[in-house]
Amino acid sequence: MTIFEKIAARQIPAEIVHEEDDLLAFRDVNPQAPVHVLIVPKRCIPRIGEAVASDADILGRLMLAVGTVAAKLGVKDTGFRVAINHGRDAGESVPHLHIHLLAGRPLEWPPG
Ligand code: AMP
Repeated sequence: MTIFEKIAARQIPAEIVHEEDDLLAFRDVNPQAPVHVLIVPKRCIPRIGEAVASDADILGRLMLAVGTVAAKLGVKDTGFRVAINHGRDAGESVPHLHIHLLAGRPLEWPPG
């Protein structure tokens, strides 16, 4: 099981901020902004570039959850950024698709 599957199964703790049937959002353990949440499918898709047509439904729901979570955490109006890291050059460290939602401070562009 991946770390995020274990969080979904409540085998390891996390600060969960939002849950739906097939997805979960919880605070990143090493936050890079005052608000830093990971939105993940409960079923592991290793990374975005390996998603397949049958994942379209959950991918859509993950994207819709972004707005729901941003509103819940009070950052929808002030703004936020979402990021998905795929592979070595992007710094991916957990092989389970996750959307980073970052907010709570001005976010530089372009990112490093
Ligand atoms: P990435 O580098 O895009 O693969 O992002 C993985 C993220 O998962 C990093 O920001 C980590 O801080 C975060 N992370 C790793 N383990 C945990 C955990 N047990 N609970 C919450 N976040 C975690």
